[in-house]
Amino acid sequence: MEKKSIKTKEIFVSEEEKILVWENVKASFEKNFGSEIYSSWLKNISLLKEYNDYLVLGVPTRFFRDWIVSRYLDKILSQIKIFKNSINRVEFKVTEENTINTTQTYVTDNFNKVTEIKDSILNYNRLNPNLNFDNFMTGTSNEIALSSSKKICEQISRYNPLYIYGGVGLGKTHLLNAIGIELEKKTNVMFISAERFMYHFIKSIKKNDMVNFKDFFRKSSVFIIDDIQFIRGKEGLQEEFFHTFNSLIDKSSQIIISADRAPMKLDRVQERIKSRLAGGLVVDIDTPDLDLKTKIIRKRLEDIQSQFKESSNISEEVIKFIAAESKTNIRELIGVLNRVITFSKIHKKILTISDCKNILKDVFNQAKIITVDKIQNTVANFFNIPLAEMLSQRRSRPLARPRQIAMYLAKKMTTRSLPEIGRRFANRDHTTVIHAVKTITKISEKDDEMKKNIEHLREQLLEE
Ligand code: ADP
Ligand code: MG
Repeated sequence: MEKKSIKTKEIFVSEEEKILVWENVKASFEKNFGSEIYSSWLKNISLLKEYNDYLVLGVPTRFFRDWIVSRYLDKILSQIKIFKNSINRVEFKVTEENTINTTQTYVTDNFNKVTEIKDSILNYNRLNPNLNFDNFMTGTSNEIALSSSKKICEQISRYNPLYIYGGVGLGKTHLLNAIGIELEKKTNVMFISAERFMYHFIKSIKKNDMVNFKDFFRKSSVFIIDDIQFIRGKEGLQEEFFHTFNSLIDKSSQIIISADRAPMKLDRVQERIKSRLAGGLVVDIDTPDLDLKTKIIRKRLEDIQSQFKESSNISEEVIKFIAAESKTNIRELIGVLNRVITFSKIHKKILTISDCKNILKDVFNQAKIITVDKIQNTVANFFNIPLAEMLSQRRSRPLARPRQIAMYLAKKMTTRSLPEIGRRFANRDHTTVIHAVKTITKISEKDDEMKKNIEHLREQLLEE
C-alpha cells in the first residue's frame, strides 16, 4: 500500500531532482502527519547531510530521537522517498544535548583521528580472561545454556547459530566470553557487542571503507555478537547484519548471539533476520534459584580468600541472607556481596544480619519490582474508583487527580520512560505524563493531605 502511494506521488517529482529541498519535505510531513505531531516532533528535524542513499538528520535531544525513531521512522522514510527515491535509510544525530553518545558520534568525527578499522575493532575485541567456564557456576536456571555453550566449543557449527537469551545480569556476556576464550585457542574469533558493530559500520560508511568492514567481519571463523537486541529499529544496521550473517553461515563459521529476549520477540527487527536467529539452537537463562546464588557467593568468597590469603569474615548466616534477599539478578548479587565484604573489612567485624539489613536497605528496597500495573491498581483502590474509570479519558477531578498521582508514582518508582508510561495510561502522550508529574510535585509541596497520600501509597507499594 505504501509503495503505491509513493508511486503516484512520484509523478509530480522530476526524475532529475536529486537534491532535497528540506523545506518541501517538511511541508509534506506537516500535511501527512497532521499539524499536532508535526509541530511537536517533526518541525525540529533538520537536514545535516545528504548522501545518495541516506540522510543524516539533526534532532535536538536524545529523547526526541528515540521518540521519532520508535514512532515515525517508517513514515518519515517513505515521505522522504517521495522526494528522493534513492534514500533507503535515515540516521539521526543529536544536535543540542552534550551527552556522550557512542552510536551517534559518526557525524562530527574528525577523519584524521579515525584509526584503521582493523586496529580499532581489535581494541574492542578483547576477551575478558576472568569470564571463563571455570568460574561460571551452574544451576537449573542456566545449565542448558552452559552445556550448549560447551558443546559449541567441542564441535563448531553443530548448532548454528547458538542464540542465548535472558534478562540483564544473568550471565550472557560471561558465557559468550567463555566460549570466545575456549575457541580462541583453536581458531580466529570475533567478539563484539551489537552496539560496537554498529559503531564500526557507521564509521566505515563515513570513511567509504565498507569493503574493509565487510572483509573484516566476514572472515572470522567464530563470530560472537552480544546484545543483538540493539539492532531493533535500525534498518541500515539490520541490512548489514543480515548480509554478514549469511556470508558467515555460507562458509560454515560458527555464530553465537546473545539477546535480552527470544528471537521472535525482537520487535522492529526484520522477519527474515528473526527467523535466521531462531534457526539454530535457542536457549535461555533464567533468574538464579537460591542454590545457585549461594554457590556463586561461596565461590566468590573462596576466590577472595585464595587471592588475598585472608578469611572473608562473612558468616554462613549472612551468606544465606544475601542469597535469599537478592532477587533481581547475578550482577546485583555480586554487587551486594562486595558491599558487605567491604563494610566488614573497613569495620573489622563479623557482620550480623541486622548490620546487613542496614547496609543493604536501599538496594533491597529498590530491588522490589514495582510495575505500572501495580501502581495503577493500588492507586485506584486507595481512592476507591474503578481502574477503568481512572484510565478513561474523562477529565473530572475525582478521576483526574488519582490518574495524575498514578502517573507521578510510575515515573518516580519505576524505570519506565515517559512515553512508555503514557502508553500504559490508555495511550496518552508523554507530555501528559510530564504535566502530571509537575502538577503532583507542586501540589504535594503545599498540600499536606496530598503529601500524606503520596507517602502512604509509596509505603504500601514498597511493602506489598
Ligand atoms: P548479562 O550479560 O546477562 O547482562 P553478565 O554476563 O554481564 O550478564 O553477568 C553479570 C555478572 O554476573 C558478571 O560479573 C558475571 O561474571 C556474573 N555471573 C553471571 N552468571 C554467573 C554464573 N553462573 N556464575 C558466576 N558468575 C556469574
Ligand atoms: Mg551483557
